[in-house]
Amino acid sequence: MTDNQQIKQLDSDFIAQTYGRFELALSHGKGCEVWDFEGNKYLDFTSGIGTNSLGWADNNWLEAVTAQAGKLQHTSNLFYTEPAGRLAQTLVNASGLKRAFFCNSGAEANEGVIKTARKYSFDKYGEGRATVLSLQNSFHGRTISTLAATGQAVFHHSFFPFTQGFEHLPANDLNALAERLKTGDVCAVMLEVVQGEGGVCALSPEYLHGVQALCAEQDILLAIDEVQTGIGRTGTLFAYQQFGLKPDLVSLAKGLGGGLPIGAFLLGEKCQTTLGKSDHGSTYGGNPVCCAAANAVLAKLDETFLAEVKRKGEKLRTALLALPKVKSVSGLGLMIGVEFEDGTTASEVVANAMAQGVLTLTAKSKLRLLPPLIISDEQIDHAIAVLKSVLNSAN
Ligand SMILES: *Cc1c(COP(=O)(O)O)cnc(C)c1O
Repeated sequence: MTDNQQIKQLDSDFIAQTYGRFELALSHGKGCEVWDFEGNKYLDFTSGIGTNSLGWADNNWLEAVTAQAGKLQHTSNLFYTEPAGRLAQTLVNASGLKRAFFCNSGAEANEGVIKTARKYSFDKYGEGRATVLSLQNSFHGRTISTLAATGQAVFHHSFFPFTQGFEHLPANDLNALAERLKTGDVCAVMLEVVQGEGGVCALSPEYLHGVQALCAEQDILLAIDEVQTGIGRTGTLFAYQQFGLKPDLVSLAKGLGGGLPIGAFLLGEKCQTTLGKSDHGSTYGGNPVCCAAANAVLAKLDETFLAEVKRKGEKLRTALLALPKVKSVSGLGLMIGVEFEDGTTASEVVANAMAQGVLTLTAKSKLRLLPPLIISDEQIDHAIAVLKSVLNSAN
């Protein structure tokens, strides 16, 4: 017999204690619902932090994954495989960029973006133009270089020194960027259209367009981190598409594999051949099972599906705004942040909602909702009812 207590004990005895976990061990899931070992059922508004795009054990996804695992589970990049080629084709056709490189995580995708930007600049302009600008309050990953790009001091403590050549500018401040670009040492600007870990904060369209124009003028690559916003999460396949942007580099991960580990970065016209043979690599990159999973996810994300994500996001937003103690609601599509009035803390709301069978997340001081993209209207209504009861009984 396995139970919550035994599983918790194994974790505390043998797993590095880097995570603050919920008091819950999960056993199995289907659709937007998941069960613990005591048979309690939970409605999921976390999707494994925006990764289980199609919820748990989607039939087509499961079929694609198991069929591929039975054929080739891994080949290394010394051989051609079909799932990776098809996935790259789909991503390129949908994004307007030219090529894809596959890896395993968001941080690894951003590492590749940084390497590409630096090499593009080096090949063309030589040394002294390697600085990567990102934004305050951003999140780009946990490796030493992507931490350097992450504009939140809370992640930095104790890990100095970082990779050189990273600076953080205030978000939505175009003058600050224009001023910083005057010294001519910048190769790329990297940003999230909606800052996820930073509290689900959307950048302004004017700012995004301004950044794009400044980058284009000075041949600086515009790198958009779509690790959390990508793959339908915001109601379009990529969030930048809602703002009419044309990035040079796009990083992806979270939602791409529907829960299997895969990351990717897409290379635009300018830098599609910047990385040549042996410039970059990743043993598991383009793993056929993960690519088959991603192909199954993307096969579902047609216009109708994405329009539904938008509609359900609006519905959720409207309902949240009408709840007691809610001060504001931020985000796009099914990537939603909720700010509470003073005296109500998001972590308390998360704990109380969990006790009533609804799983949610936080992002900084906000409640964050990232339901599977297949969430139904009834499930949204149920979550709202639970949050209402939680907020009504909060002080
Ligand atoms: C989660 C996240 C990352 C890091 O992804 P990992 O797969 O955890 O390395 C990078 N950028 C953004 C915007 C993210 O949300």
